[in-house]
Amino acid sequence: MTSTQSSILNMTCPLTGKPVTELEEPVRSVECKHIYEKRIIMQHIKSSNRCPISGGSLTSDKLHIPSASLRCPKKLRADRVVQDALLLIEIEELRKMNKKKLKWKTLLSLMKTIDD
Ligand SMILES: [Zn+2]
Repeated sequence: MTSTQSSILNMTCPLTGKPVTELEEPVRSVECKHIYEKRIIMQHIKSSNRCPISGGSLTSDKLHIPSASLRCPKKLRADRVVQDALLLIEIEELRKMNKKKLKWKTLLSLMKTIDD
């Protein structure tokens, strides 16, 4: 369970739709480990304490669970949604992984251009 490989549960913020790697101020719920944009989730908590993660943001097809049952059941509290030290490290790792993929793509398209 403590593997460093992707303990990131949601790849996009459910409220902004942004990839977690592009959040201005990523924060994570202590209760359910979901990640959000801080400014937006703090606004959300003022009107509702439900975690905004729903089935659509989770990889339901891999788990064979109906997506409706994947709605996060946790309650949110402003003081329990924090930027923990590990979160930034994990997001940085995710960014590096994405960059690697991107590099390969650029490299491949470059090689094609040279071919022409
Ligand atoms: Zn949640």
